[in-house]
Amino acid sequence: MSMPDAMPLPGVGEELKQAKEIEDAEKYSFMATVTKAPKKQIQFADDMQEFTKFPTKTGRRSLSRSISQSSTDSYSSAASYTDSSDDEVSPREKQQTNSKGSSNFCVKNIKQAEFGRREIEIAEQDMSALISLRKRAQGEKPLAGAKIVGCTHITAQTAVLIETLCALGAQCRWSACNIYSTQNEVAAALAEAGVAVFAWKGESEDDFWWCIDRCVNMDGWQANMILDDGGDLTHWVYKKYPNVFKKIRGIVEESVTGVHRLYQLSKAGKLCVPAMNVNDSVTKQKFDNLYCCRESILDGLKRTTDVMFGGKQVVVCGYGEVGKGCCAALKALGAIVYITEIDPICALQACMDGFRVVKLNEVIRQVDVVITCTGNKNVVTREHLDRMKNSCIVCNMGHSNTEIDVSTVLSSFQTSLRTPELTWERVRSQVDHVIWPDGKRVVLLAEGRLLNLSCSTVPTFVLSITATTQALALIELYNAPEGRYKQDVYLLPKKMDEYVASLHLPSFDAHLTELTDDQAKYLGLNKNGPFKPNYYRY
Ligand code: NAD
Repeated sequence: MSMPDAMPLPGVGEELKQAKEIEDAEKYSFMATVTKAPKKQIQFADDMQEFTKFPTKTGRRSLSRSISQSSTDSYSSAASYTDSSDDEVSPREKQQTNSKGSSNFCVKNIKQAEFGRREIEIAEQDMSALISLRKRAQGEKPLAGAKIVGCTHITAQTAVLIETLCALGAQCRWSACNIYSTQNEVAAALAEAGVAVFAWKGESEDDFWWCIDRCVNMDGWQANMILDDGGDLTHWVYKKYPNVFKKIRGIVEESVTGVHRLYQLSKAGKLCVPAMNVNDSVTKQKFDNLYCCRESILDGLKRTTDVMFGGKQVVVCGYGEVGKGCCAALKALGAIVYITEIDPICALQACMDGFRVVKLNEVIRQVDVVITCTGNKNVVTREHLDRMKNSCIVCNMGHSNTEIDVSTVLSSFQTSLRTPELTWERVRSQVDHVIWPDGKRVVLLAEGRLLNLSCSTVPTFVLSITATTQALALIELYNAPEGRYKQDVYLLPKKMDEYVASLHLPSFDAHLTELTDDQAKYLGLNKNGPFKPNYYRY
């Protein structure tokens, strides 16, 4: 197996930072057909921050100087049997052991393990690809000897991933990437099953870093793989335990923000191990961003406001993957949808999909709902908010609370919604009425944070696709022969993306057409894929 050379990815070379796509190999019997993948470069903007100088409010799962934005973004657990109020004693003060006598964990209440196990079993129903990955390994244990330290949301779906990694031979130590997102009963179930998990819902900032530290800093156990979501764990290891990197074979990172920082480290020549960028995998971008949002936007809006969409005028800012998902759902319910865009290509797509493309100012007085999904900042300004009609609902689906001008901290010249003349009234969990002196009310959801993660659940099946991608990235990095990966950021080969997709097809009883030899020759393809060039956009 040889390392591919870098090749520019058409269309993104200008502003995106370099990464290289890797070759893959037929290493595991359960990975039926893994062949050589073309190579590409991807680059990110120069203004992305390093671990040491990251911004405070940019990123659904971003780092901050002391605690990540992501780790404070609220996140509703799908079915939490408990919350942080059920017991005032900090888990750090408690002595707990599981039924096997192990106390190598720190969770809210180990007695909730049985409830958590049920949650995990429910999630497994919709994560059959991971279950089939376990089966296909058939005792081969491609992760035997892997010591994975992880930092992700700890939910039933992540538990299925963690237990898959264990079934494939890995030892895992896990903490939460978000102080609110842990499903306590799921953490308990993992601890009961022997996973060293350090996480609970409602951690303090100090708890957050303590949990990460407990995962990394353990006598007689040293991690050789990192699975991160947001980059906090990677940051901690860089800052506190740089020697750990001598043993680390690779980092797998899921989030936009964590990936940006890895690229920045790479650019600065400070990345000391190979890293896999799962965020930019087709199976992540095209499913998590598009379908997850298509499924969850209405859920988030309805749970918080009971709004009816038929005939409502909605403006969606940004017609990228997330915007397209949101608009498709809104249109299907009979809403009249307007789009704002800065990019003529996305604007043209919106036109062709039957949406009116407007400037926000043109419709702001008449719309009933404003949704941002640009990944940008100050998209909805105080001026816009001043002009909205009474009861207009405002929410954000982008990665952080930068899009709506809620707080003065972010505003250089706007006055924001946090000013003395405006009254804030909390009317429901995650729902604020912001009241103007004349009595006008704007309904602000989740204080401008990511609506679906804050106010609804996200579909397990989509998470399965991302989790399977993460598992394959770990397997690949862990088993790669010396020299295949250098100290750089890589994308998963297309062949593996296709493999992730194929593992999910049986859920739909979907039957793929096979190329004939003649057709394969005609198209210049291997019958087993990859079926598209790397620059194909799907
Ligand atoms: P994208 O880049 O595909 O789309 C963003 C679009 O916004 C682009 O087309 C861009 O041209 C446009 N845009 C930028 N600034 C604008 C402005 N001022 N006004 C109007 N349009 C503007 O990105 P995406 O995949 O759609 O993701 C968008 C955001 O959603 C990101 O922050 C991403 O991290 C986040 N995200 C959220 C979820 C979720 O579950 N809610 C899932 C995935 C991604």
